[in-house]
This record gives sequence, structure tokens and C-alpha cells, in this order.
Amino acid sequence: MEMNNKKRRQSMFLYVIIALAVMFAVNQSFNTFQSAQIKNVSYSEFLSMVDANKVKEVKLNTGTGKIRFTDGKQGEEGTQVYETSLFPNDDGLVDRLTQHEVTFAAEIPDTSNDLWIYMLLSYGIPIGIMVFFGWRLNRRMKKAMDGDDPSMDFSGGFGGFGMGGLGKSNAKIVGEKETGVTFADVAGQDEAKESLQEIASFLENPQKYADIGARCPRGALLVGPPGTGKTLLAKAVAGEAKVPFFQISGSEFVEMFVGRGAAKVRDLFKQANEKAPCIVFIDEIDTVGKRRDMGLTTNDEREQTLNQLLTEMDGFDNNKGIVVLGATNMPDSLDVALTRPGRFDRRIPVELPDLAGREAILKIHANDVKMERNVDLSVVAKATPGASGADLANMINEAALRAVRMGHKLVSQEDLVESVDVVIAGEKKKSIVLSEHEKQVVAYHETGHAIVAASQKGSAPVSKITIVPRTSGALGFTMQVDEDERFLTTATEMRNKIAVLCGGRAAEELIFGEATNGASNDIQKATQIARAMVTQYGMTEKFGMVALGQQRNRYLGGASELTCSEGTAEDIDKEVQLIVEAGHKEALETLRNHRFKLHEISRYLQRKETITGEEFMRIFTREDAFAPTLPKNEQA
Ligand code: ADP
Ligand code: MG
Ligand code: ZN
Repeated sequence: MEMNNKKRRQSMFLYVIIALAVMFAVNQSFNTFQSAQIKNVSYSEFLSMVDANKVKEVKLNTGTGKIRFTDGKQGEEGTQVYETSLFPNDDGLVDRLTQHEVTFAAEIPDTSNDLWIYMLLSYGIPIGIMVFFGWRLNRRMKKAMDGDDPSMDFSGGFGGFGMGGLGKSNAKIVGEKETGVTFADVAGQDEAKESLQEIASFLENPQKYADIGARCPRGALLVGPPGTGKTLLAKAVAGEAKVPFFQISGSEFVEMFVGRGAAKVRDLFKQANEKAPCIVFIDEIDTVGKRRDMGLTTNDEREQTLNQLLTEMDGFDNNKGIVVLGATNMPDSLDVALTRPGRFDRRIPVELPDLAGREAILKIHANDVKMERNVDLSVVAKATPGASGADLANMINEAALRAVRMGHKLVSQEDLVESVDVVIAGEKKKSIVLSEHEKQVVAYHETGHAIVAASQKGSAPVSKITIVPRTSGALGFTMQVDEDERFLTTATEMRNKIAVLCGGRAAEELIFGEATNGASNDIQKATQIARAMVTQYGMTEKFGMVALGQQRNRYLGGASELTCSEGTAEDIDKEVQLIVEAGHKEALETLRNHRFKLHEISRYLQRKETITGEEFMRIFTREDAFAPTLPKNEQA
């Protein structure tokens, strides 16, 4: 089709405007682009990510001393690029990387290309983009005049610069298909399911609700720790109601160009409107929905995006059946405007599963793998208080992987029990070879924990002691498993727990006369409990029932922040010290009383490396405490 002259002039004019805009935007945002995409982390964070097997590829720039690394395949969606500086003299790095199967390479800086790169960046790319968009625009206009849908052509990743197609987001929206997940796939979380059931039934039949004049909530916020099934629940609502599911993550809204995020929101709701009834699920909503008064720097882009989201949520016709679900593990940091009635007015807690919940989750995931008949999942459920649904799903998978490694056809109880350790403490680390003396220290340390625990009334029984080093850095651990679930903890139980935590160090001091750094984790935990007793639970005479601290980000295990004067803070430290010191004293005393048992069990553990709770109790409760010899068949 021929264009007439006027149209042609118009399109030339557009080219120029777009070209200028692109040049400007690219120049403006090139620096922020780089820094926005690359996350700076400290060297120690880098190492702990390596240890947690989160790092996939590492590039070391020998010129700048920078390390760039990714948590997935480079260029794949969802992969984050990180940067840190090389710590001088870290001789163990290469070993460490090899051990965790990280791909790594050195980048030798080639300065001769610098000018070229500079030229390319400052001229080549903008011109390239200009030509590209010119071409797209041209094509689009032609298509438009041929009567095709004009907006369809601007859905590419960079589609923010077309007219009409500004901020098209459909490239990123997952879904608009049925999820295939139903409530039956979510174990436990009965209250959450009940609450969501109503939303599902509304979506299935919005008219029924409209007829009677009932208004369904526009939005519900799923709050809870990571891995508890929030995303899964949102999908299940869509699956139950058999409606389309639009999923987008909050971080996808926060774009490098100001205004893009808002445009994406607008487009998302436009699409949802066309497909209603449907569910719009905004994962990690805290990334856009952070309280606007928080933080030192203002973020115009995020604010605009949030405002747009609020506007859209107010704007859509409720009876059409669009329900917006959000998920977050930082509900406290959300902007109050978001949680106001008429927006995310329903808050649905999705907490960590209890004992029955854990068993149910294990059962669901056990259906996906082939298991031996006699496998008892309740053992695993009991051993994993505090584990999330994702952890449990992971355990089943680890067990299956282990079964394959072992050459078994079916997953056995042993595979499962071993996988609990893997998820809790990390894989066994074969590369760590402890000296005989070190092994001895670790054995006494762990036995110390176990003996203190076993001599207390009402403490959870010891179920396992091991001195096999783990990839998490632990050189051993002692596991206690409660028979049933506790919902309340008494002050005595907390003091007992602190004494148990002190048991490791106490044993070292008692036997070797000197402390090692092996107790750092215990010390941290003991201090944390003591601090909570003082500042949150009002368990000291000195302060009584006064809240002295406030917990931040409860779902992410955030520490509490003091809300008291400086003088009080000093007194708090003293109280905390007193509590931990009392635990330490108790532990020392207990171990002194059970000195012979300590020797006997430690030596046994040193040889066997892992012993069960029964083995431990058998020796611990045996009358002939002074007989140091072991049965012949158990000698290594
Ligand atoms: P969240 O969004 O809360 O971080 P997800 O919904 O992404 O957690 O859960 C991650 C995975 O963990 C799910 O895909 C599922 O396999 C498993 N999972 C978590 N909670 C449950 C549950 N209650 N029932 C069954 N599986 C669960
Ligand atoms: Mg999620
Ligand atoms: Zn310890």
C-alpha cells in the first residue's frame, strides 16, 4: 500500500524523535543499567553462596581484581549477575570452586580493544537501536494500514518505545493458561485454603455474588516465610476456579527506565480485564510495594509503579471477576496504601507447617517418587521442625537422588533420613580431612551437647550424633527430636536449651583446657535465645514485662531491633550475659558429673563417626559407667 507524502513526513518526524529519545535514554541509563543489573556483594557473601551451591559461573578479571559471578546459566532468565572484589591471598578459592562444581575462568583484560568498545557503545548501539526501531515502526505502520492489529508488533523485550505499544508487558507475563494446580496439591495450610476457597468460588461464578450484592475482596495478600507454598496456593486458586492466571514478579516491574514499570502495570491490568474472570498474581510484591517513607533514597520508578498499581486496583470493575493476589515475606515493609480496604484487604498467613502439615507435604511429594513399602514419613516429619514445604519437597528429591547414586530401584528409609541431614546441614564434605586430634575435639564437643541434653528433664531426646563434616561448614552435629510438637516454650526450657548449646564448648574446656572456634554457631544461637528472653518475652526480673525490642522481618528470621534508651541497652547486654553464663555453668557442672560417660561416648563416637540416639542412651544410662572397654564386635 502506498503512503502519501504527509504520512511519510510524519513517520520521518517520528523516526527523529524516537532516535533522540533512545540516544538520550541509553546515555542516561547506561551506568545505572550496569549497576542495576549487577549486584554487589561482599567476598564473604560470595563464599557462602559458593558453599550453598548457589553459584554457577565465575569470571575473574585479573586486571581489575573483580570477580563476576552468576547464580544460573549466563543469559538465562532469572539469572542474577553479582560482582565482588577478589580477596587477596585466598589460596583455597580454586579448590572451593572445583569442589562445588562451579565453572570458572579468568578474563584477561585486553586494553587494545577499549577504544573500539567505547566507540561501539557510544555510537554503534544507539544507531543500531535507532535503525531497528525505525524498521519496526515502519513495519507496524504498514501493518496498521493493512488493517492488522498494530499493537501486536510491539511485544518484544524492548517494546517500550513504540507509540500505542508503550510498555507492553505480555512478553514477561507467565500464564494466561490454566495452572493445572489444585488445592489437592497443597498440603496443610487449611486456613489459607479455606480463605482462598471463597475467592475461587467467586471467580467461578461472579454473577452469583453480584446478584445478591456481595462484593468479593479485590485482593488478598499471602504472607509467610519463603517456601511455604504461597506461589503454589495462588496457582491452586486459579486451577480450582479454572480461570487464567497472570503471574508477574514485583522485581519485573522495577525497570531501568522510569515509567516503564507503570506502563507494565497498566498493560497487565488491561490484559486481565480482557480475560476476566482471572487471577493476577504479583509475587514478591514488596519489591514494588515498599513503604514510600522507607529508605534513604527515593526511587521515582518504584513509586510511579506503585501508584499505578494502586490506581489500577481501585479502577477495575470488581464484578467482572479480577482478583489480585500478592505474595510477600516482608509484610511489615509494605506501603499502608496497599493494605487499605479495597486493595489487598485480606491478609492470608501462610506459616511454616506443623508436624501434621509436614507429614502431609512429604506424602504429596512422596507420590512423585517410588518408595519402599515400609518407609515411615512421620520419622522425617518429626525430625524437621521449622522446615518449609520447599525444604520438605527438596528432601524427598534428595532422597531419590541418593537412591539412584546407591544404585537402588526404590527410595528407602535410610535415603530419607540421610537427606534430612543433607537439607539441614549440607552434604557430607569428603575433602575435609580432620586430624586425629581435631576429630577428638569434635567428638567431645558433640558428646558434650548430647550429655547436657540427656541429663535435663523434659528436653527433647537425642536422636543422632555425628562428626562427619558437612558442606555447611559444620564439623558435626547433635540432633534432638521431640516426640510431639511444642507451641509454647517455658523460660526453663529456654534456659535448658542455652545450657545444651553451651555443652559443646564446656566439654572442650573440661577435657582440653582450652576453647576452639568450633562453638561460634552455638554461641550465636544461645545469645539469640537469651536476648529474646530479655527483650521480647519479659522473662527477667530486672525488666519485667516490658518490650525492649521489636522484631523486623519475622518471616526472614530477622533479628530484633532495640527500642529502648542507650542505658537500658547496656543493662540488656549484662542480663543476656548473665543468662548465657548461667547456662555455661550448668553445662560444665553436668559434664563434670558425667565425666566418665563423656570420655566413653566420645571415644565411641570418634570411631563410629555417626551414632544413633539409642546407641547414645544405651551407653549413657548403662550402670557400669566405669567400664571403658567396648564390646569386641564394635571395635573398629
Ligand atoms: P513460596 O512462594 O511461599 O516461597 P512456593 O509456593 O514457591 O513457596 O513453594 C515452593 C515449592 O515447595 C512448591 O513448588 C512445592 O513443591 C513445595 N511446597 C511448599 N509448600 C507446600 C505445601 N503446603 N504443599 C505441598 N508442596 C509445597
Ligand atoms: Mg514464591
Ligand atoms: Zn556445638
